[in-house]
Amino acid sequence: KKIVYSGIQPSGSLTIGNYIGALKNFIGLQDEYNCLYCIVDLHAITAPQEPKDLRKNTLDVLALYLACGLDPEKSIIYIQSHVPEHAELAWVLNTYTSYGQLGRMTQFKEKSQKSKEVLAGIFNYPVLMAADILLYGTHLVPVGEDQRQHIELTRDIAERFNRRYSDTFEVPDILAPKVGARIMSLQDPAHKMSKSDENSDGFILILDSEKDTEKKIKRAVTDSLGTFAYSDDQPGLKNLIDIYCAFSTLSADEVVAKYEGQGYGAFKSDLAQVVNDGLRPIRERFKTIRDDKAYLESVYTEGAARASRMAQKMLRKVYKKVGFIPR
Ligand code: ATP
Ligand code: MG
Repeated sequence: KKIVYSGIQPSGSLTIGNYIGALKNFIGLQDEYNCLYCIVDLHAITAPQEPKDLRKNTLDVLALYLACGLDPEKSIIYIQSHVPEHAELAWVLNTYTSYGQLGRMTQFKEKSQKSKEVLAGIFNYPVLMAADILLYGTHLVPVGEDQRQHIELTRDIAERFNRRYSDTFEVPDILAPKVGARIMSLQDPAHKMSKSDENSDGFILILDSEKDTEKKIKRAVTDSLGTFAYSDDQPGLKNLIDIYCAFSTLSADEVVAKYEGQGYGAFKSDLAQVVNDGLRPIRERFKTIRDDKAYLESVYTEGAARASRMAQKMLRKVYKKVGFIPR
């Protein structure tokens, strides 16, 4: 079986962007592949986190994984900091990554522009991500479109290392969804929806109430053109249509056909309903799972044990190739 790897940062509560672009697609892969789904807390601290929020968010993401249908019997579900090999391999991979390449990463440029002080951690973020992926011999990485550049860098690093020594790392491919690989902010369709956005009207959380979901969709920016079309000239509306498609079986053309000639109001209230209907079972399951501390602990403990075995094997191999003396 091929290996699938992905992770989400506990840097806040998850948005429907995270759901549509990543999490939703994790579920169906579980039968066909050996999947590892991580909660990447080491990545989350590349932006300042309040310790108690980080603890809460980490368990929230885990409970959401389970509420969405990730199955610990099928997949390895674990917390990144429980497997120290991630940080150890990242250090080695840093020596196969060029400074210039990291400086060209869009995520680095955008995130460092927003912060007063640019941390080395955010610069090195893609190297840690490469380590996550390469540590497990990953073939496929289900992520949103915003992560494409990082996957390409991961491939580069793997190839560079393989060329320098011998075949060590599998060179992974991205697996981005056809619809909704890049959900945009509801307040600014030029930027992607992000859980760390300071304007909470820009995103819908998986765990938002039905009322808030509706409110945020009503407030979403559209345009003054007034026509109902799926077009780059109407990026706000286009984004809402993408969200509609992700939560229904309709294509963009079918959504347009359905609402053509109507105002945005009717479409928006239907959209709120479609999103709420899609999220309701997850929202309900989340509560019960999140309250079961013992169950959550058993899931991440077991997950870390299984991930560790794989990670240790790969790291040992890498250390040997590099020329470190085995202890
Ligand atoms: P942050 O703002 O802290 O970076 P984020 O919302 O970007 O948070 P990440 O944890 O960085 O979330 O990413 C988790 C997964 O969600 C990744 O696979 C990423 O590609 C995907 N993702 C994030 N935002 C979107 C989006 N707007 N549309 C589709 N997929 C997304
Ligand atoms: Mg992100």
